[in-house]
Amino acid sequence: MHPKELVTSTFRQRFGKEPAFVALAPGRVNILGEHVDFNDGFVLPAAIDRATYIAFAPAASQRSTLVAADFGEEASFTLASIPTKTNADGAPLAEWAYYPAGVAWALTEADLAVPAIDAVFASNVPQGSGLSSSASIEMAFAVAWQTLSAVEGTGWVLPPMQRALLGQKAENKYVGVNCGIMDQFASACGVADKLLLLDCRSLEWQTLPVPEDVAIVIADTSVRRKLTDGEYNKRRQACEDAVKILSQHLPNVRALRDVSVDDFNRLSDQLPGVVEKRARHVVEEIERSRRAIPLLEQGKIREFGQIMNECHASLRDLYEVSIPELNVMVEIAQSLPGCLGARLTGAGFGGCTANLVEKSVAEAFATELATQYERKTGLKPEIYICKASDGARLM
Ligand code: ADP
Ligand code: MG
Repeated sequence: MHPKELVTSTFRQRFGKEPAFVALAPGRVNILGEHVDFNDGFVLPAAIDRATYIAFAPAASQRSTLVAADFGEEASFTLASIPTKTNADGAPLAEWAYYPAGVAWALTEADLAVPAIDAVFASNVPQGSGLSSSASIEMAFAVAWQTLSAVEGTGWVLPPMQRALLGQKAENKYVGVNCGIMDQFASACGVADKLLLLDCRSLEWQTLPVPEDVAIVIADTSVRRKLTDGEYNKRRQACEDAVKILSQHLPNVRALRDVSVDDFNRLSDQLPGVVEKRARHVVEEIERSRRAIPLLEQGKIREFGQIMNECHASLRDLYEVSIPELNVMVEIAQSLPGCLGARLTGAGFGGCTANLVEKSVAEAFATELATQYERKTGLKPEIYICKASDGARLM
């Protein structure tokens, strides 16, 4: 059942009434600018046509009841008990409930009213595969609480970017995941048929065109990333170490964003081997994003695809967040007719690749990619031909 129908029917069954509203918030795919958000770089994601759907209505009491329809589980809390991550009866919240409870917490911290809610949510964003299922849950609940605040006359309305920042705060400070702003930004601010360009330092953003005859194809390796927090933290640390050393020679450097490729090449022998590799990925990736912007503006999609291919090689060889299955998926894609660019997307160590493909052959590309990948790895992949979509909204 499509999650939109699932949330409505589950809501009727569970609460014995019609949902007052249904909202949705999309997942996202990052097309270029990987592992640069915490180095003040540029990212080029798109919201996709897979989303978390939420059916909701004001609750009759102070208690909020949340149903995760995909898991057949339920959590309930009152505002007083949120910061301790417990249900209204004092039992610990399930992990999935941290995301919506975290949004309620972040709203409260910002002095915004969080009306008690009856809600059912479900999603067709795959979990833990780099398409940001977690941010889509946060942004769906942010829209839901904003909608109810208007109904209850305690009205607040935040621009999408502000909702994204609250979602990021929820994930950083409440859930405890050290993510950048890209995921929530793309889910909140998505624009149909467009790529988004976000400057992670200034938070200024704009859209960039995708040619009409080009499809975004996402290929899920079906390998789920495992406990990789340690690996990410090591890479963040390496980038910070590089900034510390480079800023002794370049006084205006606050983040790797401020280091040009020329300066980096001149000073790279000052950096320990692994630090040099990690930082080189970031410096060159930020330079790739800068080169990519005019190419997209001018519709030079082949040259843009080439940059995606370079990005994959860099994530594989310098940043070292790829795995054999991701490399196989990318190599097959790059050998197929109509493929303009292919690379791993998201954090790495599993999950998905992003491909730009000529629309006229996208179906054949998807079939052939799945067949060859399964033959080589014995794993069954999922391939989605997707559409860049609008951000979180009421339906
Ligand atoms: P992702 O890259 O997909 O955002 P995360 O690890 O950040 O991966 O978030 C995945 C977590 O989000 C899941 O472990 C679960 O707690 C929650 N989640 C994602 N999708 C759903 C869903 N459909 N129903 C309930 N919880 C979900
Ligand atoms: Mg996430």
